[in-house]
Amino acid sequence: MIAGIDLGTTNSLIGVYESGFPTLLADTDGNRLTPSVVHYGADGETLVGREASRMEALHPERTISSVKRLIGRRFGDEGTEGIAGSKGAPVTIPTHGKNLTPEEVSSEILKKLKSIAEQRLGTEITRAVITVPAYFNDAQRAATRRAGELAGFTVERIVAEPTAAALAYGLDKLSDRSKVAVYDLGGGTFDLSILQLDHGVFEVLATHGDTQLGGDDLDEAVAVLIAKKAALGDLPLESQIRLKAAAREAKERLSTEESFTLRLPFLTGGNTGEGKGGTNLEIPLSRAEIEAVCEPIIRRTRAHCLRSLEDAGLRAEDLDQVILVGGSTRMPLVRHIVQEIFHTEPNLSQHPDEAVALGAILQGAILGGNLQHVTLLDVTPLSLGIETFGGLMNVIIPRNTTIPTKAGEMFTNAVAGQSGMTITILQGEREMAADNWRLGSFEIPFPPSPKGAARVGVQFSLDADGILQVLARDTAGGTEKIVEIKSAVEVSDEAVEAMLAGSLEHAFEDMDARIFTEARLKAEEMLPAVEAALEQLAEELPQEEISEIKAKAAEVTSALEAKETARLKQSLAALDQATQTLATKLMEKAMG
Ligand code: AMP
Repeated sequence: MIAGIDLGTTNSLIGVYESGFPTLLADTDGNRLTPSVVHYGADGETLVGREASRMEALHPERTISSVKRLIGRRFGDEGTEGIAGSKGAPVTIPTHGKNLTPEEVSSEILKKLKSIAEQRLGTEITRAVITVPAYFNDAQRAATRRAGELAGFTVERIVAEPTAAALAYGLDKLSDRSKVAVYDLGGGTFDLSILQLDHGVFEVLATHGDTQLGGDDLDEAVAVLIAKKAALGDLPLESQIRLKAAAREAKERLSTEESFTLRLPFLTGGNTGEGKGGTNLEIPLSRAEIEAVCEPIIRRTRAHCLRSLEDAGLRAEDLDQVILVGGSTRMPLVRHIVQEIFHTEPNLSQHPDEAVALGAILQGAILGGNLQHVTLLDVTPLSLGIETFGGLMNVIIPRNTTIPTKAGEMFTNAVAGQSGMTITILQGEREMAADNWRLGSFEIPFPPSPKGAARVGVQFSLDADGILQVLARDTAGGTEKIVEIKSAVEVSDEAVEAMLAGSLEHAFEDMDARIFTEARLKAEEMLPAVEAALEQLAEELPQEEISEIKAKAAEVTSALEAKETARLKQSLAALDQATQTLATKLMEKAMG
């Protein structure tokens, strides 16, 4: 198994390709993002991720963040301004009396990711694909590879982030020579890369960006806006940090909400104080307000986009796709500006903050040979579905669907007071459940509900290995059950042929059986309802109308008993017709 790793400036992610799907792995607290922060404790213990982030404010001198900015750099290079060292020598970072190399620090992050994956999978992971920005030079790539090796990985490949993202967006399926722009605006950096697909492999034609432009700058601008609106004076460092975190929260909330009231209790140091406890801030903010202060910052990405296009010798119109990467591209304004720059709507089909990691996982799966199934385009030999009321086959994944695939439907209870459903999984092409093959069956309980009130979602996922997982969930109560069926695709050719021949041979009877069953269900519902209504409204209807309705109902009962489909359908229609006045009166009565 080859893990895929997005080793980011602020956050890192790891995942593997698991039975047909790229899966990001979470730590024991359920977090898939691990902050790229390392803390070297006085007791010799090294902390990584969230725990290290918490130590940053207390012991900045023992805590290292954004080490990606330094990896593979030499003193005097861009980004090394704050650190003392002789010009031209590889950068080292003085921490607790030692000089650490950036690859040593990065290796701690990678070790942490490795342990998250191993804990979650219960097996050792020794091979990995790691992503780096497209603009990383050979020294930076080699240093990243060394960090991986120090962490105990065999680094199978270093992949450019935009290439990984394009893989995650499935763009390797575009036609040859397609051109793609990858707009990546994260927390601290921006880059725009132009890729061209060449025989299934992406080539980076151009890349431009700014290593000091990202969501952090937007947070800063929003914090200034808040301070201005609240007329805050100088704030102590701790309050500034809290204000910045609140600004970030407001910014993220306003990506989906139009307005948001920021509440910050006990923010000390303001000049609108409410006594010695400090200021309790309550500031209403609108999306338009924060967009106004963020816009000039986001507009700075435009020049880089144009430079990249120019370097690649292309115009915006030559691009086949524009994809978004990085958490900051969740902002509607960013999407709007991207559209303005490229005169085309960006592809929004993937989570922008996970695309790079997912692409790394896919690259790992390709190198490990796990993705062959997908390229072979395996298909389902027969339809898969469940049995519904009346013994009918309800298809969920039709025959000849390319796998892996996932599909689902919502079902409800047919009978009042019903307190559970039997999910019977079927395979085959026949209309009646009984003529198909039964793959398995299980119960999903729910609280007794009136007819049609229960809601049970049933989802089928079929992975590339042909393993079918059926999940049923009572959406109100939350009860959930999953069963796994191994043999959903492994059906012998003869059996498939026999099933298809059977479905052709019995096509007419089958259709008749389905129509009869549907009519029977309707009759069984209608007859008691008509009887009850007649009882209720006996006084208000002329005698001959009552007799006519009773005669029509008797005809339905008799057709039902005789199992005659056409007669049943006709008599149901006649009963429907005869009860029009009855239905109207009933409705009027119900409405008072
Ligand atoms: P990344 O480097 O891709 O992890 O992106 C991190 C940046 O994305 C941070 O600046 C976040 O504040 C920002 N971000 C995450 N979610 C949102 C959101 N919903 N709206 C705006 N920015 C977001």
